[in-house]
This record gives sequence, structure tokens and C-alpha cells, in this order.
Amino acid sequence: MKESCPVCGAEADLQFFSYNIPHFGDAILFVVSCPSCGYRSTDVRILSEFKDNQKRYELVVSSVRDLNVRVIRSSFGSIEIPELGVNIEPKEGESFISTVEGVLKRVERVVEVLIRDEGGAKKKRAEWVLGQIEKIKAGKARMTLILEDATGNSAIIPD
Ligand SMILES: [Zn+2]
Repeated sequence: MKESCPVCGAEADLQFFSYNIPHFGDAILFVVSCPSCGYRSTDVRILSEFKDNQKRYELVVSSVRDLNVRVIRSSFGSIEIPELGVNIEPKEGESFISTVEGVLKRVERVVEVLIRDEGGAKKKRAEWVLGQIEKIKAGKARMTLILEDATGNSAIIPD
């Protein structure tokens, strides 16, 4: 399908990806991408009877196995990892259907930019966060993943 790009007005592609998640239900990921200016926007809708049951999810990640837990984040979902001091505010167009490991990769990418651009205490702090993420990925440190979404379109879904 085609849609006009909200940035440059050129013809952008609109794609739908459907996910069936066992014991949970269906979710649809919408992706708008513009070949002219590179604009990209994603959103998620959960089509599940569980959708409205829960607005807040909390998962303790303490083993390598927990890295594979599925995470759905809509444009209205906020993510918090208190142990790392990480807060990801809701942002339109930045939705995903991923895993705990995928969330950590996103945090790593943001922190790596900080390390490049910052110095002093901020850089030290960022390096510490990256080190903790390595430990968490190796199952040697734990963290809590908190996901909140008033629209019910975000979820943490253990197997
Ligand atoms: Zn564009």
C-alpha cells in the first residue's frame, strides 16, 4: 500500500506485519517508510482479549533465558529499567515487537551515542551501563523491565 510521506510528501510504503503470539493473541505492526527522505515510522496494535486487562507489566530478567521474552511496545508505551537508570518515554512512530534482548540492543545504541558525544561523569556512567548490559546478557546480573501503556497496546509476554 502507498501513503504520502508526512515529512516530504513523496509516496511512502505502508506495510503490515501480523504476529500470532501463542497463549496471547494477534498483534499487527504497521511500518511506514519513505524511500525519498528515509522517514520511518512504526506502530503496533494488539488484537487480543487480554489487551485491556493489563496496563503495566513488570519482568525480572535474571537469566539468559529471560532475554527471549517477547516485548511489544506501542507508541504509547514507556519502558523503565530502574537498575540501569534507563527511561524510554513513549514516542510516536517508535514502536516495536521484539524481545528483552532487542530492548537492550536499543538501549546500547543510545548509550553508545552518549559515550561518543559526552565526557566526564556522563561518559563514566554510560560505560557503566554498557558493562551492566553485558553482564545481564551473560546472565550475571539482573534487572527489572517495567512497561506501561494506558492504551493496552504494549505487553511483556513470557513463554
Ligand atoms: Zn519522505
